[in-house]
Amino acid sequence: MKIYKAAIIGLGPSGLAVNKILYGNGLNEIIAFESEDINKRDNIFGFWLTDWMRPFENIIEKKWYNWSIGNKNLDITHTSLDKPYCVISFKTWKKFCLETKNNIEIVNKKVIKYFPEQNYFKIITADNKIYYAKKIYDSRSTKEKKGELLQHFFGINITVEDNTFNENKLTLMHFTEENNILHFMYILPFSHNKALVESTVFSKDVFHTSWYRKKINDYLKKNNINEFKEQSSEKGVIPMFFAEEKRSVNSNIFNIGIRGGACKPSTGYAFSFLIKQIQLLKNSKKNYVNTHNFLERKMDKIFINYLKNNREDGKSFIKLASNLNGNEFQSFMMGESNLLTKLKIINSMPKLSFIKELFK
Ligand SMILES: Cc1cc2nc3c(=O)[nH]c(=O)nc-3n(C[C@H](O)[C@H](O)[C@H](O)COP(=O)(O)OP(=O)(O)OC[C@H]3O[C@@H](n4cnc5c(N)ncnc54)[C@H](O)[C@@H]3O)c2cc1C
Repeated sequence: MKIYKAAIIGLGPSGLAVNKILYGNGLNEIIAFESEDINKRDNIFGFWLTDWMRPFENIIEKKWYNWSIGNKNLDITHTSLDKPYCVISFKTWKKFCLETKNNIEIVNKKVIKYFPEQNYFKIITADNKIYYAKKIYDSRSTKEKKGELLQHFFGINITVEDNTFNENKLTLMHFTEENNILHFMYILPFSHNKALVESTVFSKDVFHTSWYRKKINDYLKKNNINEFKEQSSEKGVIPMFFAEEKRSVNSNIFNIGIRGGACKPSTGYAFSFLIKQIQLLKNSKKNYVNTHNFLERKMDKIFINYLKNNREDGKSFIKLASNLNGNEFQSFMMGESNLLTKLKIINSMPKLSFIKELFK
């Protein structure tokens, strides 16, 4: 009977990070279970360059020092020279995390359940096979919560005529006016003729792909981009609520990634936070770490409740962006804002609605 040092359930970015950051330099034998074909996964992850992400600078695919937030009437441009917006693709992250000294065996199977037996775990897969490991790193996504907000999006990678895009500035949020939902376009210009153009919604229900496609086409037309070639697409649904599983009483079970509470629900950013989470776990004796501190979580909760209970069309985001400079804005997005920035953020928000949410 072979007992692995650790079992990783799910080879999304957090499972991959466990292999690289926790076990990459040792000679331990690790087993990883993944129910999907991750070689087909192809999407990119954006984040601002925080100190904890600097070790991964070499695999960053592109950095933007300028970004904009606006609507048809107003456009706020932010600049940050030392903490730019960056992207890493899933494919690059996967390659980087699997190029390690340790031995990782990848099993393309769904895990049905696991439970402790003596001083290890018995893991059962869909084909009724049994595996054993001393520790479990579990990244299986948690169930949806009815009535909670979701961030859902669909985007296409396109090529267009030369010199169409300004490759030095990304569009972080361009809000469009919709009935009862918050919708914005997110444009990542990789070069003057290549970009990811994404339609994103904050609402309780996910839409059919045709809905986002229409928004993308409308946006492109408005910007005089009438001809383009679609190279690939990506879509996703991210919880806008704290989606972590209860921490396990068994100290050898680690909930990781979104399941472990890495996502910042008010923004949907999770990639760099799940890396921070694994880095924190490396230096902790516990099976749980707080990726987001108490105050950040509290502010997130108030903000999400505000979004849930009010008709927001993006104006609060634009006001927030206009009251902060680039460094302050990125520190807020990355959960590193200081007290002064926090006060500026609170001051930017619609007072009465926020006070109501504070006392709920
Ligand atoms: C298209 C897309 C774009 C995104 N862009 C950004 C971004 O720009 N910036 C950002 O910060 N965040 C972004 N996110 C959000 C977040 O970073 C991702 O959702 C990220 O993938 C979360 O990583 P994870 O490891 O927690 O979970 P997942 O990526 O969901 O990984 C879990 C893995 O477990 C596998 N699995 C599930 N159940 C089982 C089972 N029973 N047995 C075996 N395997 C199982 C799944 O197939 C999956 O591969 C994006 C998300 C998506 C979907």
